[in-house]
Amino acid sequence: MIDANAVADRVAHVRSVINEAGGTDVSLVAVTKSFGIDALRAASTAKCDAVGENYAQELLEKTAEGMPLIDVHFIGALQSNKVRLLAGHIALWQSVDRESVVDELGRRSPGASILIQVDTTGEPSKGGVTPPQLDALRARAESRGLIVKGLMTIGPTDGMQEECEKSFGMLRHLVNEQGLSVCSMGMSADYPIAVACGSTMVRVGSGLFGDRVRVTN
Ligand SMILES: *Cc1c(COP(=O)(O)O)cnc(C)c1O
Repeated sequence: MIDANAVADRVAHVRSVINEAGGTDVSLVAVTKSFGIDALRAASTAKCDAVGENYAQELLEKTAEGMPLIDVHFIGALQSNKVRLLAGHIALWQSVDRESVVDELGRRSPGASILIQVDTTGEPSKGGVTPPQLDALRARAESRGLIVKGLMTIGPTDGMQEECEKSFGMLRHLVNEQGLSVCSMGMSADYPIAVACGSTMVRVGSGLFGDRVRVTN
């Protein structure tokens, strides 16, 4: 069970940490994977800017219980065969990292807003294009009518401060170089570092809702 008052307190705490880290206009995406619809409601009541979901099936089960009163961002590993299921539910596609997904989004969700996920750590499980692949994927997305708002990355797992700064500094640099506005980086363990490095959007899950039971679909 989600305690909406506790979530509101944690949201206030995260916002104050963001301010202390120097963030002025940072969106807070509450990551609700593995939690039920009550987590989305609590995030909405606590005035988070959006919720983040990772799994198509799980999101569809939640929306079957009632439309969330908050924007939903897709942040999970994204294959083209999931796009059709998700289209119509997603305000921002944060994890776009391949041509097949770009092409399918252009067909199923014309004019959709996306972030391109960039690999800034070299950790194999994380996905994302390498920096040299970025121009080509962006050009393809725009040629399909998609709106590229910015970039997203996942920082190093169990990273020391220096490694986090390297990863986040790389994304911030690429966002500037591309002339984009959204720089989505920072999770529960590392969002203060990400904000200090110029994040404009943090994605916080366990820091708001507590530990997740691991899901594998
Ligand atoms: C799960 C997840 C998060 C949130 O992780 P926490 O450590 O619970 O804050 C953020 N971004 C992505 C892409 C995720 O998959």
